[in-house]
Amino acid sequence: MKQAHSPVIIATWRFGKEAVEHAGELLRNGHSVLDAVEKGINVVELEPAEKSVGFGGRPNADGVVELDAAIMHGPTHDAGAVAGLRHIKRPISVARLVMEKTPHAMLVGDGALQFAIQQGFQQEHLLTDESRDQWKTWLENRQSADDSHDTIGLAALDTQGDLAAGCSTSGIGYKLPGRVGDSPLVGSGLYVDNDVGAASATGLGEEILKFCSSFLVVELMRQGLSPQEACEQTIRRILAKKPQNKDIQIGLIALSHTGKTGAAACRPGFQYAVWREDHAELSDAVIVASIQQPQ
Ligand code: ASP
Repeated sequence: MKQAHSPVIIATWRFGKEAVEHAGELLRNGHSVLDAVEKGINVVELEPAEKSVGFGGRPNADGVVELDAAIMHGPTHDAGAVAGLRHIKRPISVARLVMEKTPHAMLVGDGALQFAIQQGFQQEHLLTDESRDQWKTWLENRQSADDSHDTIGLAALDTQGDLAAGCSTSGIGYKLPGRVGDSPLVGSGLYVDNDVGAASATGLGEEILKFCSSFLVVELMRQGLSPQEACEQTIRRILAKKPQNKDIQIGLIALSHTGKTGAAACRPGFQYAVWREDHAELSDAVIVASIQQPQ
């Protein structure tokens, strides 16, 4: 029999603060852990000012926004994902329906779009005037003044001690059409084991997925490491195999089944938000590269 828990929610980046606040409100009002994850992530997907997620996300090289998202439910160990999804503002909600309404775990491209339409989602323009202008500037010399890219990754623990996690991104700006990163891949962009913990990743997907990074964080927690140690150890593993990755950003967040949290990154600048006891706080993640290479 599981013990009653204080709910805890963790999310990536500064925009994660609004996401955990909304998710926390839902948990407080008795919504399910999956609702908290999905609707918390929707907050960032629907915000056009966020240039790396959902509506207003940076487009691919052809000027088309292609979105990746995944969700995973601890109690059932089920997952759903979409990749290269066009014209839909809330890809995490489509990912949840892939999990709940189909026998599949991932839909991509046109198939994902057709499924979303069947489920009642509206096809919409995802480029804002600003993101279209920035893409046109990029087209002129194939260089961008701002090549940042982020993912909203969010993991939640409810009062029953059940976990869920999700993530959503528009991926790398001006990517080759069809490019898919770590985010929709279970084990890379996110992972949940209800008896152990949950993890999610952000940063350069091409490198995150080569290390099954979120799975590794959870497996290290299973071996007894705290969420913080597990995130740091995973970054250390990535840097040991590929020291050149110290120059790219990879950020990891983790939440244990007992409500402990952790976060680590290769480079400075990765913030994450934690919500507990009705209060959300932003913190800077521990930078592992600087621990490894003292002056
Ligand atoms: N991981 C995402 C991707 O590679 C982007 C990011 O989080 O920065 O698609």
